[in-house]
Amino acid sequence: MIEDASGWQGNPQHEFAPANEGELAELLAKATADRQRVTIAGALTGVTGGAIPEDGWSISLKALNQIEVTPGTAHVGAGATLKEVQQAALATGQFFPPDPTEHWASIGGMIANNASGSRSFLFGSTRRHIAALRVCFMDGDLRTFRAGDAVDFFVPQVAIPNTTKHQAGYPLKPGMDWIDLITGSEGTLGVIVSAELKLMPAPTDLINGVVFFPNNDKALDAVSVWRSVEGLRMLEYCDADSIDLLRSRFEGIPAGAACLIIEQVGDDPDPWLDRLEESGAYDEASWFALGGADRERFRQFRHALPEDVNDIVRRNGFQKMGSDFAVPFERNRDMMDYYYQTLATFPAPHVIFGHIGDAHVHVNLLPESADQVEMGKALMLQFAKHAVELGGTVGAEHGLGKRKRHLLALQFTGKDIQAMKDVKTRLDPHWLLAPGNLFETRG
Ligand SMILES: Cc1cc2nc3c(=O)[nH]c(=O)nc-3n(C[C@H](O)[C@H](O)[C@H](O)COP(=O)(O)OP(=O)(O)OC[C@H]3O[C@@H](n4cnc5c(N)ncnc54)[C@H](O)[C@@H]3O)c2cc1C
Repeated sequence: MIEDASGWQGNPQHEFAPANEGELAELLAKATADRQRVTIAGALTGVTGGAIPEDGWSISLKALNQIEVTPGTAHVGAGATLKEVQQAALATGQFFPPDPTEHWASIGGMIANNASGSRSFLFGSTRRHIAALRVCFMDGDLRTFRAGDAVDFFVPQVAIPNTTKHQAGYPLKPGMDWIDLITGSEGTLGVIVSAELKLMPAPTDLINGVVFFPNNDKALDAVSVWRSVEGLRMLEYCDADSIDLLRSRFEGIPAGAACLIIEQVGDDPDPWLDRLEESGAYDEASWFALGGADRERFRQFRHALPEDVNDIVRRNGFQKMGSDFAVPFERNRDMMDYYYQTLATFPAPHVIFGHIGDAHVHVNLLPESADQVEMGKALMLQFAKHAVELGGTVGAEHGLGKRKRHLLALQFTGKDIQAMKDVKTRLDPHWLLAPGNLFETRG
């Protein structure tokens, strides 16, 4: 039995861990010959069931974990973890910008999900940071694609929402790059074997703070105020209920407070001083980093939230129930108000935190009974519909996998979904790769 971080489980008939790309290619060719269904497992930190097979073979790429860092690039196997890549990059004064906070994610999983996370405010998602991809298709064919290599067949344009983050379905457009197609395809088109990642020089100066506010409203009002700070690379929101989950483990949290977690490249604190006063923040009680140890504490503080939420739901005997919707930034406050008004009558505990600078937060419900799970599912659907009505996306960074694939039809027309299925059929004619991910039925 294997399970991802959301608690979604599956029982593959066989589990494989090829030692190199040649073995992987042979396995995929054999699976095609035998019409075996195949699902790729990364580090299983995903939260949509994407890496969990409904049946057939599970293939892990954990042995393909080589890392070679050169100025500006890292050549890495799909099985290398983000933490290992960051450590190797840092040793040369560089870093890999995408930061899905879960640093045990594999690079293959990050690329397959086009992961983004807390620093995406400045750096965007994983897709933007790939120079080349090596991919193995179901017939065993191994191909390398570099940025600028356009797909060699026609793909139509599908409508992409006007959000700063979007990760649901294939972002089809005529003349698109192979890298853009494979990245974010959730393991449905080909297996990512290795990648050439673009590295940036590690910044020498950073200003970090966990800025507390008396309540959620004050913190939300401050988002636009902080968003304009030059060099801002992280603008995260944790509401008062989220922070309460962490209170017993982190000292110095003001009572009833909500917070923004902020990171800026640079060393000029002036923009912060003005904004602290203007936005009614608790300036004395807020936390400011004096060095790497503080920054690491702030990272742990932020990352403890999704970890705690996942643990609580699973201890209650259920699976993660978290949203991943984003809206255009000008509709951010409308969406947040809608969440809070609607949740006012939801009987179970709930928390909201996440990437507010991108108008993208995670609403997490913590149901305590089967009835509340059903109510929660209906609520999530309602939220997804509202996000789309506001011009937003049903999936901003986690992908849809199996648990959220029903949302694809809220975002896209039947024609758009058929166009995506046509691409899948072209690259995986027998629909053997990642069955059940993204699409409820075969095209
Ligand atoms: C506490 C916590 C916090 C998180 N925070 C964030 C966040 O802020 N931002 C964010 O974007 N995500 C976040 N995630 C989700 C998760 O970490 C990311 O989706 C990550 O990219 C998954 O990587 P993985 O290696 O664990 O992939 P897996 O979970 O193993 O797989 C994910 C998908 O990728 C496919 N896949 C994996 N490897 C390959 C490959 N080599 N080739 C083809 N397909 C492949 C799988 O089949 C599956 O569909 C969080 C998760 C947790 C548990």
